[in-house]
Amino acid sequence: MTDLSKARILLDPNEVPKEWVNILPDLPTPMTPLINPMNGKPAPFEMAAAIFPKECVIQEVSQEPTIPIPKELREIYAKTYRPTPLHRALSLERELGLKGDKIKIFYKNESISPTGSHKPNTAIAQAYFAKMDGINELVTETGAGQWGSGLSYGCSVFGIKCTVYMVRISFQQKPGRKILMRSFNADVHASPSRFTEAGKSYYDKDPEHPGSLGIAISEAVEHSLRSDQIRYSLGSVVNFVCLHQTVIGQESQIQLKKAGIEAPDIVIGCMGGGSNFSGLMIPYARDKIRGITPDIKIIGVEPTACPSVCKGKYTWDYGDTAKKAPIVKMHTLGHNFIPSPIHAGGLRYHGIAPIVSNLYNNKIIEASMHHQLDVIKAGFLFAKAEGVLPAPETDHAIKEAIDQALLAKENDEEKVILFNFSGHGFFDLLAYKEYMTGNLENYELPDEKIQESLNDPDMPQIDESSF
Ligand SMILES: *Cc1c(COP(=O)(O)O)cnc(C)c1O
Repeated sequence: MTDLSKARILLDPNEVPKEWVNILPDLPTPMTPLINPMNGKPAPFEMAAAIFPKECVIQEVSQEPTIPIPKELREIYAKTYRPTPLHRALSLERELGLKGDKIKIFYKNESISPTGSHKPNTAIAQAYFAKMDGINELVTETGAGQWGSGLSYGCSVFGIKCTVYMVRISFQQKPGRKILMRSFNADVHASPSRFTEAGKSYYDKDPEHPGSLGIAISEAVEHSLRSDQIRYSLGSVVNFVCLHQTVIGQESQIQLKKAGIEAPDIVIGCMGGGSNFSGLMIPYARDKIRGITPDIKIIGVEPTACPSVCKGKYTWDYGDTAKKAPIVKMHTLGHNFIPSPIHAGGLRYHGIAPIVSNLYNNKIIEASMHHQLDVIKAGFLFAKAEGVLPAPETDHAIKEAIDQALLAKENDEEKVILFNFSGHGFFDLLAYKEYMTGNLENYELPDEKIQESLNDPDMPQIDESSF
């Protein structure tokens, strides 16, 4: 009989981590700076601080190995949903025919947050730092709606205003997300809207324009520049967001130790902009770099339809289609890349976090990709076994975890596999319905399309010797 005390490992609210893990000083090669899109030179502090809360800009470039989590913020995490549980996926293991204790699958359950994903970890932090700065409104864009919900919740905690530009096609297809955001008092606009110059140019031509993340970012940035009481907020990609997410990995380390495990053999997360994967893996990547666990395998998982790391290029690119956000060095498919309409909406970004790019380029982490039909199937298997329907993004991590477990079984190896359960899929039922009705298809991004997008003369030319 399996020891049930190790089936679901909970921590006391007092055990919310006291600091964030900053990987920057441990990176094998130095982190590249954020570049001002106007002149191709590193963005000065004042410029970044006009866009983001000041404390976040300090964290973005900090070389301190750890950064304290303010007491007030820790209290909010503790009062609401952190630490999150670590589950042993015993029923999934049984479904996979894994016998005995040789192969163990654990997952860190970020789906229990107020909005159903890891996003509030950084949303609450950003709203807190904005409040400290005397900012009274945060504005952002959202595609699938997870980030917009997270930030709406974060802002409501501190009583600051939140405005969200939501890509119109999602606004129409996911009414539940819109209602959730409005229940936290957020202003939600379908984008393109008539409230900004950037949106109006599209809206006036076609009030039913389906929108894109690029247009929504332009609208949010334009809105944020209206007053110095307003800041723009990002839910992934940048260093400080990955930093805020490291509570996930730190908690999992304590929880695994409680289960008698010094370190997992394999750490897995799905990758959109790279923040939930970073949050789980950064503490493990640091131990790997420092030689404490040199053999640990760390895998980020992408959709075959949007493989920024597996097939993209490590180069300088704009953070957004509108070329308003800073230029960063990252694995990218090119900012003009238009993803096919796959259902893992949160994994459709053209690039990936510079931290993830650096670690991949230095061979500390690996990447894999899977087809849409295979990941949704893995999600159903997980739901039947463990009882929670995952977000389609999360299905990518589950598919990889299952593959790794079956490989270990075939090779008769002992393995501890840990993956991040980034969110539940209760607002994403359409994807599962389409699978059930046979309307979902696989899509592999053709190499010619990637080359076309990367060879676009519109890609930024940055002279690294100038800084
Ligand atoms: C947003 C989101 C993702 C992808 O974003 P990352 O920044 O790569 O984490 C993955 N899973 C869920 C549930 C999300 O909401």
